[in-house]
Formats: sequence, C-alpha cells, structure tokens
Amino acid sequence: MPISLLSTDFDGTLIGHEPDARTAASLAAALADLRARGAVWAVNTGRQLWFALEGLEHARLPHDPDFVLSSEKDIFRRAGEGDWEAFGDWNARTEVRTTDLFHRAQGVLEAIGAMAEGGDGIEILYENGRVAGLMTPDAATMDVVAARIRETALDVPEFSFNRNHVWMRFAHREIHKGSSLAELARLLAIPRAEVLAIGDHHNDIPMLDGAAAAMVACPANAVDEVKRVVRAGGGYVSPHPWGEGVADAIRHFAATGK
Ligand SMILES: [Mg+2]
Repeated sequence: MPISLLSTDFDGTLIGHEPDARTAASLAAALADLRARGAVWAVNTGRQLWFALEGLEHARLPHDPDFVLSSEKDIFRRAGEGDWEAFGDWNARTEVRTTDLFHRAQGVLEAIGAMAEGGDGIEILYENGRVAGLMTPDAATMDVVAARIRETALDVPEFSFNRNHVWMRFAHREIHKGSSLAELARLLAIPRAEVLAIGDHHNDIPMLDGAAAAMVACPANAVDEVKRVVRAGGGYVSPHPWGEGVADAIRHFAATGK
C-alpha cells in the first residue's frame, strides 16, 4: 500500500528533547521524497497550534506540514504561508463535547484540584481561560497521579486524559491523536490502509493502536508501552532515535508497504 497520509508526533519523534533540537538530514530527505510521491503530512502533537508552529520554525524542516493536529484535539490546514485554518467542523464539535464533559466532570476536576493542593509538586495548567490539565515534577509522580485520576473519574466514564512525560491534558475519552487523525483521513478520503503514524509517548498510543492507521512505527527512544503497542500491531520499531527513526520508518513502509 502506498503511504498517502503521514502522521508524526513532534517532540521526541521529529526532534529530540534538547532545547536547540534540529531535525536530521535523513528526515528532510524522507519527507521530501514522500511529498514528491503525493503524500500528505500532518504533525500530530500535544502542543497548542502557536507553540507547534514555533517548534516547526525552529526545527528547520524542508517544508511545512500540510496539516497540524494540535492539543491532541484540533485539526488545522495550511491555507497559505503562515496561515492556518480549522479544517472541517471537527474543532467546533470537539470543543462542544469538551465543554460539556468538563461541566459534567466538575466534581472530578475539583478532586484533582484538591490533589494538587495536597503537595507532590502537582501544578494545574490552564488553556484558553479554563482548566486544561496538569504537570508533575517527574515521570514517576505522573504514574501515580494518572492512576489516582482514573480512580477519581470512575463515575464519569467519558473523562480521560492524554499524558506525555510530565504533562497531562484532560480530555473526552474519544478525543485524542487517534480520533483527530481518523477524522482527517475521512475528510481527505484516504483509507486507513494508506495511513502511517509515528510517535514516541503515551499520548501517541491512540494513533498507534491500529484504529486510525494500518501502518504504525516508533523511534528507538519511544517508551516501552509504545513499543509494545507498535509491535502488537505488526508495526515497525526503528533502531534509530527521533528524526533518524522517523526517516527509517518512512523508508521501511515506502519499500515494503504493510
Ligand atoms: Mg512525543
């Protein structure tokens, strides 16, 4: 199967975690080759749109992605140089679902707020004037916090979260990188069999579990749980880290298909 739609995470996938991280030369070549074959590329990130664009500018890739899927939720299309617009009505629909969920989950959010006040260095984060998620001092604390929130939210089954290192964004359980990727593919009339998704962390699992993309991969630096999910789906775990791993995975699927 050809790769018609490529969905890549940004931090830890296209680039490493150093503050001045730039992308690998092999990645630029693989992206340019894929584009020449007519494939569409989406950066699928937990970053908000403005922060994703800032990162992309700094990464100095050979060209902009065609789409940015931001905040593990929204779909933006490049409408021109530096000009990005909502694609379809997905963003509006997911915003309604998120607002409705947060309203119904008020008790859960209050319990999480109380947890943060209890110490452990948990910091509540806000976006667009409302509670959005939280940050923990380290990954081990995040494991504990995630387990406690799952327990706290048992009576609001739609309440979920997307976690990435020490960051967590609260979300409807059906709103994540996988569902936004599936919606993008639907809008573009690209079948799941022609979608390749690549990511490194927990918040990438919803786009790597096979539901949205038949071809899945991760770089060598991916967390163990991601590697397990990728292997279970018959995907490709690259021996190379970050951008080198992404380039390697693109070459792998371009050569062999599924
Ligand atoms: Mg990542």
